[in-house]
Amino acid sequence: MIHPWLQPTWTRLVELGERLPHALLFVGPAGLGKRALAEALAARLLCDAPRADGHACGHCEPCLWRISGNHPDLQRVVPEAEALVASEADGAAEAGGKAASTQIRIDQIRELQAALSVTGHHGTRRVVLLDPAEAMNGVTANALLKLLEEPPEGCVFVLVSSSPRTLLPTIRSRCQQWHFGRPDEAALACWATHADPGVRAMLALGGGMPLAAERLAEGGGAALHARFVRDIGGLQPADVLRLAGQWEAWLRSKEALAAGFGLPELADWMQRWVSDLAALRLGGRLRFFPAQEGVLAALASRMSVAAASACYNELAQIRKVSRHPLSLRLVLEDMLMRYARAVAGARG
Ligand SMILES: [Zn+2]
Repeated sequence: MIHPWLQPTWTRLVELGERLPHALLFVGPAGLGKRALAEALAARLLCDAPRADGHACGHCEPCLWRISGNHPDLQRVVPEAEALVASEADGAAEAGGKAASTQIRIDQIRELQAALSVTGHHGTRRVVLLDPAEAMNGVTANALLKLLEEPPEGCVFVLVSSSPRTLLPTIRSRCQQWHFGRPDEAALACWATHADPGVRAMLALGGGMPLAAERLAEGGGAALHARFVRDIGGLQPADVLRLAGQWEAWLRSKEALAAGFGLPELADWMQRWVSDLAALRLGGRLRFFPAQEGVLAALASRMSVAAASACYNELAQIRKVSRHPLSLRLVLEDMLMRYARAVAGARG
């Protein structure tokens, strides 16, 4: 399904037809539907007889292979953790006790290389979907780069990223970049009239992105939200390290992975929490946590505007590295210490 705000892009992609470049990079904030767009494009490229609207027919042999998840010419390269969540949703057995990687591993690119070195099964058309592109370290990205530089004939690479600045410039320059912004007010209003109230309630916490809101709502966003509010609202300075440990386990839990709730999202919520504190301090309105006015007001009354704004800026810095934390635990400790200091500073 193509979301209304991506429809013009879909039309342009379809119109390109055979002039489609061999490597595309879809860039835009998370929760916009970039992956669905990439999947629709892959389906179209592999289909023997696409429909007039550009979509795959859904009936031909390659379409049936794809729908059953067995198309040999469609390679999806995603972090192991994500693949695991997807296979568990299908009822597959749980993998061993080892924590699944949230990064795309070098082995995955080597396997891709091997798969692409043999001829395609159905004609020459092959598609590689890689998402998220920022989940590659330098070594992995360089291995991919070799494939992008000498692509197998008929192969189209579709990379998806919500954090393009962290990609190797050489990767970016090898791909045709397609940038997507936030849905405009009209598209959002159209979406909101059809959305479930539980999903609408998650829109602010999903950064105004409809799919992030849907994913949060489906993945138990209300429970994640309740826990966040409880933990951060009741945080005592002496508890910072303990909470960082608990949050580390929380972010690695299956529930959090399934909801798409990771460090970037948590850092985002922290920043919004502080933004609401600053807003209250300045006599403004709560934007993100209106139901927590009591707790926020008590904290805000003891926090200076300067401390709130300094903390907000520090959290913005942390958010920048939140997709590639060297150590999840250290980032959480740093984040919570800065927050506790800002709040405690006001207490003194
Ligand atoms: Zn088809």
